[in-house]
Amino acid sequence: MDFYPDVSVLPRARYLQLVTSLRLLDPAIIRSNEPEEVLTFSYQEPLQERFIIPWRKVKAKLRRIVAERGRDLGYGTMCFLKESLCMTCPTCLLFGGTGETSTAKAGYNLLSRVMGETFISKAKNIEPVGYTANAVGEVKHTTGQALMTLITVPADTEFIGVVTLKDPTPEMASLLVDGIKRLTRIGARSVEWGRCRMDILGGGIFDHEVYSAYELLRDGGLEDIPALEMELPPIEKAFEKLQDQISELILQIQKSGD
Ligand SMILES: [Zn+2]
Repeated sequence: MDFYPDVSVLPRARYLQLVTSLRLLDPAIIRSNEPEEVLTFSYQEPLQERFIIPWRKVKAKLRRIVAERGRDLGYGTMCFLKESLCMTCPTCLLFGGTGETSTAKAGYNLLSRVMGETFISKAKNIEPVGYTANAVGEVKHTTGQALMTLITVPADTEFIGVVTLKDPTPEMASLLVDGIKRLTRIGARSVEWGRCRMDILGGGIFDHEVYSAYELLRDGGLEDIPALEMELPPIEKAFEKLQDQISELILQIQKSGD
């Protein structure tokens, strides 16, 4: 199967699946006084104890990165998470949004074309590592007032997750792949922790969702994933064409709503 040449209002039935690996270069925080982004999770045999990263965390990060890239190139310059989505830029086309809550008060919703799943650590029963750190006072920014215990996932932990692009075009895939390559931090307090690297192990375009991290880790088969050879347009060209396409798409949506 191949990419679609254009973007359509109505859903079609092709799925680009990217089987990815997310490897921590630093420890990532799973428990602290702040929101935790990597969690522990117990599966039944044979998966047992694993670390997981909820998809919404990875998706939010990816969206932010793609939006930044877009703004840098002059697209979606007034589009901001979470309350001020513009609903008219390539990032909104890819990751979706609700018209009512957007600043633009658009009369339509965009379904997310990027779909994902829980990222699961490749190895099981890894021991979390505890750190004791000085809590920093909010007001004076002084340390030493209290000690805070951070529980972290050790560096080098590798997570597997499948990212799926619904009804893919080469331009959409270009944005998504660019975002995946530039996702370099994950986890709470990611300014100082949680550097990571995300790589695409392989995948393909199918008429349904073929791969899931859960099954790949339970049944094996990561080594058999076919390498992906995609000829994708450069990111600047991809944003340009997608902007034209979403503008056209919105006209169609508005016409059908009249
Ligand atoms: Zn937008």
